[in-house]
Parts: sequence; C-alpha cells; structure tokens
Amino acid sequence: MRLYLIIMFILNSFCITAQRVCDIDSYTKNNFNSQVLERGETPSGPARDTAVNEIITIPVVIHVLFNSATENITDAQVLSQIEVLNRDFRLLNADKANIPVAFKPKAGDARIMFCLAQVDPQGRPTTGILRRYTTLPIFKVADDMKFKSKGGSDAWDSKSYLNIWVCSMLGRTMGYATPPGGDPSKDGVVINYDVFGDKGRVRGDFDKGRTGTHEIAHWLGLKHIWGDEDCGDDEVGDTPTQLSYNFGCPSFPRKSYCSNGDSNGDMYMNFMDLTNDACMNMFTIGQKNKMRAQFALGKPRNSFLRSYRCDGSFASGAPLPQDTLPVKLVVVKKEDPIQIYPNPVQNDLYIQAKETATLSGKTAIVYNNLGVVVLRVILKSNKTTIPMQNLVPGVYMLKIGEASDRKVFKLVKL
Ligand SMILES: [Zn+2]
Repeated sequence: MRLYLIIMFILNSFCITAQRVCDIDSYTKNNFNSQVLERGETPSGPARDTAVNEIITIPVVIHVLFNSATENITDAQVLSQIEVLNRDFRLLNADKANIPVAFKPKAGDARIMFCLAQVDPQGRPTTGILRRYTTLPIFKVADDMKFKSKGGSDAWDSKSYLNIWVCSMLGRTMGYATPPGGDPSKDGVVINYDVFGDKGRVRGDFDKGRTGTHEIAHWLGLKHIWGDEDCGDDEVGDTPTQLSYNFGCPSFPRKSYCSNGDSNGDMYMNFMDLTNDACMNMFTIGQKNKMRAQFALGKPRNSFLRSYRCDGSFASGAPLPQDTLPVKLVVVKKEDPIQIYPNPVQNDLYIQAKETATLSGKTAIVYNNLGVVVLRVILKSNKTTIPMQNLVPGVYMLKIGEASDRKVFKLVKL
C-alpha cells in the first residue's frame, strides 16, 4: 500500500503537466457551505416531479471573461462544448465503443440535455453567450469570476440557468463546480478557456470537452469516482471502489489495491475519474440515477423542469450589446511627449505635452469599458484639464487624435 502510494506520487510528479486538475475538493472545503439556504427567483408555474425517462433540458448561459483576444473564444468553440455535453449525457458519444466489454452493461444514458439560453432573465432574446472584458489576467479558485464588482460577470438566476464561466484560471486548474444546494449567486461551473469544448483553442490531452462533462456532473451531484479518499465511497452503487484517481490513458483491466476482489478493476474510463479526454467515455446507470434525482420534487435542481429559457419564442425586445476588447494599448514611454496624470485619477486629469503643437486642435475622447463615449474634449493648449469627477469608478480608455496619429491610454478612475 505504502509502496503503491510512493509510486503514485513519483508518477504524478513526472506526469504533472499531463494530468487533469479538478479543483472541486479544495473549493468545497474552503468555500462551500451546504447549509446556505437557497434563494433566488423561482420560475413560474406549479412545481412537478420528473417523469420517467423524460429528457431534461437545461438552459445554459456562458460568461466568456477575456483579458486578451486569445481568451475571447469563438461562438463555434462555445457551441462545440454544448454539443459534447449533449452527446456525453445521452450516451451518444462515438467513443462509447471504447468502453471495455465488462463495463458496457453499466453505461447509462442520463437523458439530460443542454441548450444555449434563448431568453435572458429580463425576457430579452439572447445567444446565451455573454462576453465580458475583464482587467484581471487570471482568476483564482475564489469565485471572483462570478461577480461583476470583482472583475467577473454576475450569475443569471441559478434556478433557471446553468451558469458557466469561461476564463483564464491560475496555475494548472482546469475547472471547478459547485455541488447542488449552495449559494445561488455562486452556483455553476468554471472552466479554463483552453479546455472548453472540442474546437478552437483547446489544448493537448484535454481537447475533447470532457472537462465540461466532468464539472457539470459535479454540479449535478456526482462525486469523483474514488470518493476523494483511499478506496472511498462515491455514493453510487454500480461504480467499483478505487484506491485513488487515474490519469493519462490506462488500459483494461486497471487493478488497484481495493479492487482485489473485482477482476474488472478501476472504471478509469468514467467521466468522474481524471483520465485524459480521449480516454473517458461513460457515466454509469447509478450515476445517471443520482444526477436525475437532483431534479425530483423538493430537490435543488427541480426548478429546471419549469425553465422555458431554451425557447426563443418567449423573448421580446433587443439583446444587450457585448463587450469588445479595448483599442490596442499604447505603452507610454519616457520620451513620449504626451503625459497623462494622475492615473489612477479621482478628480481632474491633466493632459500635457512639451510642445503646444503636439496637442492643440486634437480631440480627446474617454470611453467606458463598454466602448461608449463618456467625455469628449477639444484640446486648445499644451496642458488641458479633463474633469473626471462625475464618472463612476472603473477602467476607461482615453484616445487623443485620430488614425495613425492617435494615442490611446488606459485610465483608472477611483
Ligand atoms: Zn472533479
């Protein structure tokens, strides 16, 4: 046993870059309080129970948080994740052919599907994809991405939508999820932008969208298949007991210390293990039943049976505009004749140049983080005061001049 753990540790050390990292355990230990009462808007209409075998469809809103163009993933990449989910949760994935014969009878079709939301919380039409520029280059496993006030994007009513935040995560974290029954303002799934979906900017061994499948299954109440401790219990009857997690791409049978009596060994190809995307391909019938039980009357996900957000015919009005990347920043060098100060600024901002001709006659325009013009001033001398008192705190862009002659500065208003 000890030797096995030492070997596991050594293998882990060598395979560190190729290993899946799911941070639900550290997240739930540090942040999740299952005693938090559920709040939030409840969808209209009487509550009902699930019908046997009904297909449950979950409206999804994707919050794409970007600090660079790379992180602003395409609609096609977003859509590819939805398509992966709709195959994996319906056992329609082509690689189910790779499930070892011994495990095939255990594979389950969860009969759960996902759509990009067609109606937003205010009843307006939406693509289900929100693009938000953030000044934060990286997010920790600390929920900042879930709050606009912290550089993220506020959750949509988590009784009616599955919120997925796609952003750049600190270190090797690929994602984490909130289990059912927690704080509605934090409820949902976070996934690193380069392991989201199976098209576009996806990396190496995690390019088939299975991080999304794994994390959403956590959101639906599933635990890791090894029960998060040596030979632990994942509270599902038809998954074998495993000593610990598997990574990479094991081959059948993969026997471990606590599966001695079971000649089939670990179910390393289960979505709730930590193997590579290409090597995981099934939920069990027991896992299916556990996920679907979350939708029963009185259970945390029951409200989704009454969410109509997948049906665009309920929408009216115009969709909200999206953020775009701010115009390219120009780094102010020492020899640059234009000086902007103070920055951060609270009241007056000064634009100054050594030569009057540098500024006189040019227009200075201040944009907010949505690209909307909030101030426009024609410069008349080599030193001009721009009043910033009336602007709300945040990040702004200041553009001076036009076309190739323009200079752009990033301002922080306190
Ligand atoms: Zn996990």
